[in-house]
Amino acid sequence: MKEMELVVLGGGESGVGAALLGKKLGYKVFLSDKGKLADSYKAVLRQHHLEFEEGQHTTDRIFAADLVVKSPGIPDTLPMVVELREKGIEVISEIEFAGRHTDASMVCITGSNGKTTTTLLVHHILTQSGRDVGLAGNVGHSLAAQVAEKAHPLYVVELSSFQLDGMFRFRADIAILTNITPDHLDRYDHKFENYIDSKFRILQNMRLEDLFIYGIDSEAVARKLASLSLQPQAAGFTGGNYADIAGGMAGRAGMAGEEVVVCLAGREYRIDQNRISIRGRHNVYNAMAAILACMRLGLSDEEITRGLETFPQVEHRLETAGVVDGVTYINDSKATNVDSAWYALDSMQTPVVWIAGGTDKGNDYSVLSDLVRRKVKILICMGVDNRKLIDDFKEICPVMDTHTLADAMAAARKYAWKGDTVLLSPCCASFDLFKNYEHRGECFKAVVADWEKEQK
Ligand code: ADP
Repeated sequence: MKEMELVVLGGGESGVGAALLGKKLGYKVFLSDKGKLADSYKAVLRQHHLEFEEGQHTTDRIFAADLVVKSPGIPDTLPMVVELREKGIEVISEIEFAGRHTDASMVCITGSNGKTTTTLLVHHILTQSGRDVGLAGNVGHSLAAQVAEKAHPLYVVELSSFQLDGMFRFRADIAILTNITPDHLDRYDHKFENYIDSKFRILQNMRLEDLFIYGIDSEAVARKLASLSLQPQAAGFTGGNYADIAGGMAGRAGMAGEEVVVCLAGREYRIDQNRISIRGRHNVYNAMAAILACMRLGLSDEEITRGLETFPQVEHRLETAGVVDGVTYINDSKATNVDSAWYALDSMQTPVVWIAGGTDKGNDYSVLSDLVRRKVKILICMGVDNRKLIDDFKEICPVMDTHTLADAMAAARKYAWKGDTVLLSPCCASFDLFKNYEHRGECFKAVVADWEKEQK
């Protein structure tokens, strides 16, 4: 019998993982990447005698595939992908592929913002409680690699809309949809509805006994839900009053003064929001979603509280980088859209020197005006082209134009006084001056670390 051929397009974490699982399942595997592969991934492929190419796509080999696993970074509109589908060759994501070969339970998290934080938080609470649980998707190791090499009975999986687009039969036992605000519209024909539909793919295949956890306050989520008949049970969370949440759902979470109140299937859990290690209104949302998921998984109140209290800060997300001359420096480099910067500014308790800018994704900054007027002493723009930011904020607060991190940091140090906060929360992608958001955050932290050393 002819060996089944698996072609993997893209040789990053997910692609290499899919190749490993493919081999274990007996496929003849060929991995192809148009760009360069990292040395560490090449070493893994060689070690497992997996055939690969880089810097090109050999279409003859690719069109001979029985199944194609495509990296979420490759758009569905790429002519080669379109042609594969036209030829009837199935093109799926790594998560879909892995999901077809495991019976493990899946807690899946998607949304425009808060995915990584919520995923890590659920994973942290579970591991602190001694559960055998894998971390996968956009964070952690490839799900396929874990299914192939180190299977867990339960996974917490962060799913981007691009991953969801390549998922068809996959089923989440518990799904969390944090919120939806416009993002990545370039990949969705500039139609917000298409992006919303993509996020809602997380619901596909969910059964009556599964649980869908979602942010009620997100207008786009609420609007879409009103047009659907939901298959799984639902649990909504809100930053508003717990007592005001409409009944009829299996679970709900909201506020009662300073207390977070969560109820699922008749069981109630409460925690003072100040006991949750990560701060800010957005992190209360993330905590509510995590609590609902963990209650569903049967964790005790004590286990949940311990996890919420001990969760470490997440790198590049409102991360305290250091304190210099009495000024706190916060690295929120992952804030690459307007909504995430809104929550960062909202959580600031002292006057803010705000560093923002980078590659604009068609942002509408008007929603930030009120917060900026109330909290920001000066906006330091840091980007190749700052014209839009300057024009939008120059009537609201003092604005400075800088084009390097060094200049932006020097200005921040000059204008921040003891007790102030310097906040890097750029609202924009980082590609004009940096390799990615991690690089931007690391450069910011390195400057702060140098200054802290000088002080000692
Ligand atoms: P994602 O993985 O969806 O990009 P992250 O947890 O990495 O989300 O956070 C990205 C940015 O959004 C950070 O600046 C973070 O402070 C902010 N953020 C985190 N959670 C939320 C939320 N629930 N709503 C809005 N912004 C959030």
